[in-house]
Amino acid sequence: MKNCHLVLEIKNASKSFQKDRSQALPVLENINMEVAENEIVALLGKSGSGKSTLLRMIAGLVDPSFGSIVCNDLPVTGPCRDTSMVFQTFALFPWLTVFDNIAFGLQAQGLPVDEIERRTVDMIELIGLSGYAAAYPKELSGGMRQRIGFARALAVEPQLLLLDEPFSALDIYTSHKLRQDLIDLWERRQIQTRSMVLVTHDVEEAVALCDRIYLLTGTPGTITDVFNVDASRDTRSRESMQPMVDR
Ligand code: ADP
Ligand code: MG
Repeated sequence: MKNCHLVLEIKNASKSFQKDRSQALPVLENINMEVAENEIVALLGKSGSGKSTLLRMIAGLVDPSFGSIVCNDLPVTGPCRDTSMVFQTFALFPWLTVFDNIAFGLQAQGLPVDEIERRTVDMIELIGLSGYAAAYPKELSGGMRQRIGFARALAVEPQLLLLDEPFSALDIYTSHKLRQDLIDLWERRQIQTRSMVLVTHDVEEAVALCDRIYLLTGTPGTITDVFNVDASRDTRSRESMQPMVDR
């Protein structure tokens, strides 16, 4: 771990969903996980292993059945201001423009109009959507829609960004470009967010982007391995771009 300030600490967390009165469906068991400031951590597992449920628990959208989730030294007991999420299927507001999608969280925080305007315009530029502020999501490609998803989540400057397979609905070229742009923003400290949890089933993606990989396996899902990724993220992500350039 790069420094000792933990942004997220999960201790012995388990989750069962109640199927009916007599039957519970155990989905996650005894999860222990930590994310420090300046870390990108992967949660790697097969479909159905409980990755999205765990991410929703971190976001405070689902309560753990047992155990504790602490974000920024405070127990997570409901929707959490310190986190925001990017979804696999973008989950944009189709009736809002690019600008209003990105401004949404800032408006919900009740910030002054001129600050909302400034931060939204800055974010539109950072994420590579200049010139599209007035467009609607349906007018844009999948890659650009997911850029809106990232911008909306990053605009509120969460301590911890939660990414639920954000690249998996995109073709490989679009996904590599967006990955690279995200890492560039991160490395150059152009975004305030300093910690991320990336949910993925893609080993290569986890290795390219993350400092540490938690492997979630089994039913109910449990963490069976934790890997530290050694080489610098910058080198890894550029190496993973190489075959794309050669093709
Ligand atoms: P993953 O994201 O790894 O594919 P999920 O967290 O979506 O896995 O789902 C893990 C298991 O939990 C699945 O069997 C799913 O059907 C079940 N599950 C998820 N959410 C609920 C819910 N709200 N109610 C009941 N079962 C759920
Ligand atoms: Mg999922």
